[in-house]
Parts: sequence; C-alpha cells; structure tokens
Amino acid sequence: MGWILTSSGAILFSVTTITLIVSWFVWNRREFAGGRVLFFLLLAIAGYALVAGLEASFIGLRWKIMWSTLEYVCSGPVATLFLIFASRYSGYDRWIRGWLRVVVWSIPSGAFVLVATNSLHHWVWRGFLPGPAGSNAVIYIHGPGFYAIVAALYAYVLIACGLLLRSATRPGVIRQRQSAILLLGTLFPIAGGILYIFGINPIEGLDLIPISFFFTGIVLSIGVGPLHVLDLIPVARDTLVERMPDAVLVLDTRWRVIDLNPEARKLLNLDSSAIGRSIEEIPGIWDQIRSYCDSENGGRTEFLLVENPLRYVDVRVSPLSGPDQRVLGYLIMITDITKRHVAEVELKRANERLEAQIKEIEALQVELRKQATSDVLTGLFNRRRLDEVLPRELKRAQYNRGVVSLILFDIDHFKQVNDRYGHEVGDRLLQFLAHLLQERTRPRDMACRYGGDEFVLVLPETPLDAAAARADEIRIAFSSLWPSAAPRECKGETVSLSAGVAACPDHALTEDALIRSVDEAMYAAKEAGRNRVCIANAKKVARH
Ligand code: GH3
Ligand code: MG
Repeated sequence: MGWILTSSGAILFSVTTITLIVSWFVWNRREFAGGRVLFFLLLAIAGYALVAGLEASFIGLRWKIMWSTLEYVCSGPVATLFLIFASRYSGYDRWIRGWLRVVVWSIPSGAFVLVATNSLHHWVWRGFLPGPAGSNAVIYIHGPGFYAIVAALYAYVLIACGLLLRSATRPGVIRQRQSAILLLGTLFPIAGGILYIFGINPIEGLDLIPISFFFTGIVLSIGVGPLHVLDLIPVARDTLVERMPDAVLVLDTRWRVIDLNPEARKLLNLDSSAIGRSIEEIPGIWDQIRSYCDSENGGRTEFLLVENPLRYVDVRVSPLSGPDQRVLGYLIMITDITKRHVAEVELKRANERLEAQIKEIEALQVELRKQATSDVLTGLFNRRRLDEVLPRELKRAQYNRGVVSLILFDIDHFKQVNDRYGHEVGDRLLQFLAHLLQERTRPRDMACRYGGDEFVLVLPETPLDAAAARADEIRIAFSSLWPSAAPRECKGETVSLSAGVAACPDHALTEDALIRSVDEAMYAAKEAGRNRVCIANAKKVARH
C-alpha cells in the first residue's frame, strides 16, 4: 500500500475540511426548515470529497476500487439529500413522505449494493486500465450499471434543481437575494454534470462532482448563515390554497367550476365530481352571487347558505383577468361567518331588549314623578308640586313686575258630610270640587289639593279682583252643581265653600307670606259665616 498527495487529492481534502467546518455552523442553526437536511447534505459532500481525495491519492488498483466503491456510499446520499432539501424548501416535501421516502432512498442503496458486488457481475465496471504514464489515475471501463446509477442520481439532481428554480422564480413570494442564492445553488451541480458528460476536466484525476456539490453546499449555507435569506421558506401556492381556512372556488367564464379546495368541498357539501359542473347546479349560492359574476369588478356579499346546520357566509367574487385584461374566470372565496353572524343577531336582540327596558324605565320615572307630585284621590297636583311651582311664579312676577293671585278654598262643615254619609261620599265631594277647579282654570293656572278639604288655585298674571271674581264663581258653581252630582244617599244636601284670596305683590312677596295671607283671608270668610270669599288685608309690601 502506498499513496502520494496529488494536487487533485489536496483540493479534495481541503474541500472536505471546509465542508466539515461549514456543516458545524449549519448544525448550530439547524432549527430552520430543511436545516438538518442541509447539515447531512454537507456531511455527505465532505465524505464524498474525502473518499474521492483518497481515491486520487492512493496507489494500487485494489485500494482505488475500494475508495471508488465508498464514493457511492456518499454520492447517492448527496443526490438524495439535495433532492429532499430542495423539496422541503420549495414546499413539495409532502411528495416524499412515508413509503415514498423509502423508494427515494432505495436508489442510492441499490447503487451501493451494485457497486459493492461488482466483482460478481461486472455491471458497474467491466475492467480497469492504468492511467497515462506518470499519473496515479486508473481508467474505469464502465458497464451499463454505472450509467443507470449516474442517470438515476442525476435525475434526482435535476428534479432538485427544477424545484429550487421554481421557488426562485415564484412571483412575489421570494426576495431577490433569495432567488439569487437559489439560482446559484442549482448552477454548480448542473455545470459539474455538463463538464462530466463532455469529459472536460481542468485538473487530471480531479472528481468534479463533489467539488460542484461543495459549492452548492457552501452557497446554501451562506444563504441560511450570514445572509439569513433562506430562513424564510416560501409556502407553495398549491399548499396555500389547499390548507386555507376559507373555501376557494375557481370558475371559468361559463361559470363552470374548474378548481375547488377541501374547505369548499366541505362547506358546499361537494365531492371532486363538482369540477366541470356549472355553479348554477350548486344549491344556495348562484342566485346570491350571480350579479357579481356579471360585473367587471366582482363584489362581496353575506347571506344564509344553509339553515340546518345554520351556515352564514361571506362571499367575495373577484374576476381573474389575463395580461390583456380579458376576464378568464372568477375566484370565489367563501368565509364561514356563522359564529360572527349569530353573535351579531344576539347583540341586536340584546340591544332591542335594552332599549325597551330603557323606555319602560323612562315611562316609570315619568309615572313616579307624576305620582310624587300629584294627589291620588283627586288627580290634582299636591302640596309638594305647589312648593316647586309657587316660588318660581312669584319670582317671575317680581321680575316682570306682574302679579300672581292665590285662592285657598275650604269646604264648609266637611266633617259633617263624612259623619253623615260616610267617607266615600266625602271622597266624592272632594273629587267633585277638584273637577270643578280643573274645569275653571286656564292652562297657565295651577290647581292643587293643599291637604284635607283645602284646595289652592295659583293664578299667574291675574289681578286680585279678577281672582276674587273667579273664586266667587267657583263658590257658587260648587253649591249649585253638587245637588245634581251628589250620590243618591245625599241628594238634596247643600254644601258650601269658603275662600280666601291674596295676591303678590299686593299682600306678600314670598311663598310662606302669601300662603299665610290667603289662609288668614279664608279664616276670615269662615269667621264671617262661611259660604263667602274674603280678600286678604292689604299690607304694605316693599318690592325689591
Ligand atoms: P270648617 O267649616 O271649619 O272647615 O269645618 P270642617 O268640618 O270642614 O272642618 P275641617 O275643614 O277642619 O275638617 C276637615 C276634615 O276633612 C277632617 C277630615 O276628617 C276630613 N278629611 C281629610 N282628608 C279627607 C279625605 O281624604 N277624605 C275624606 N272623606 N275626608 C277627609
Ligand atoms: Mg273645612
């Protein structure tokens, strides 16, 4: 056994060393998709270069054949791993999963078995000739097995290059630097293959195949390492559409379905026989989107697709036009919005309920306020309301230099009515007087039950004498109308009314003072024999 370090051997050993160093870097960044595959690819390239270097350096046919055999241990995995990396990177790795992966690996394994058992069948090498005088090379006389192996492995390499080229030229997905790296990565194995086929070799005995893969490995490693551009794996368009959570349908210009994804099949309850059928045959959808398909700009709509199970959908129709702007078909994207729609309906109902409740509360508040300021028995305002209104009216009168008159009525001998005919008849008499007061007041006047059988009339902008006349009118009406309005049991019973009249500013300026004055006037009427109207004593009142 002997060996000499030839120049090709030195190059291949250097390639081995550099590849191992790079593989170490890639191992440290192996987490990106395809990272581990790239690491093993670099190891296989390093191994390939090493055994090719040993083959070039060793003297003696037996050794050379042994290293050549080992070259197949590495070259098969290099081609296979390159294919796996390219398919994973370009998003086609689903094709080489499961048993297909076994098939893919069976070719390099078979190649190795064929080479290892060459002495039995001589299919790979039929014989060997010494190389040119002075060189350490051996000329291998190849058999059909060799060409079959080379063809199979180069088919792998070409498929891998095709996948990477496809990724590089995919529109809009990959950035320019990413495309450049991928194109460069595929360039070397193709160039190496061409040189090999045409027998062009700048250095005697130098195996260019591991060298070309070495460059590819380096370029891809730079892509994931310092440049980071391959870290982002583009997702294949087909994968995108297939795995989209939305349903996608493609129609031609005659509304026939030419493509649909699994979500569309599920949502519209279709099988693959839907392809080629007109969309008009798919229930529930055509009527809703027809107008959008006729329009140049497409459109978007929401509607109920099926009632059971409930399915609301959002449908977008986009015309697909060619480079000459001619419409070639339509893209229909359907999103299931049932959950959102149900939530919206529930929200609307809740809002309506809330609005109804608010209205009810407002009405109740109005009612409550009315109850708080009105008298239950007579329906007139109560004393609380009088306390709110009277000070306001007095202020306004003083401000406008106007006048407000006040009348206080008290039924004469009301206790007797109660005693003789009962409280119910007494209540009727109170209601009768309340009705009379309401009837004989203007909209601006205010009648209220002051308490017991006492009633107050507030008469804004009414001078004292006019107020006294009104009081008298009411007094007469009370006495004369009651006999006919009285209940049967007290028909014929006479009733009368006493009243006091006072005015602001004539008698007082404040509410308390005015009430006091009118009260005094009313008591004066009682003192004077009842059934009469008395005007309060005029006092000197200073206006502010
Ligand atoms: P006078 O001529 O001096 O006014 O004598 P009177 O009997 O009317 O006595 P007074 O005005 O002081 O009595 C009021 C009575 O009114 C006392 C009370 O029993 C009665 N009364 C108070 N509120 C009500 C009510 O809501 N219904 C009925 N039926 N009677 C009431
Ligand atoms: Mg009384």
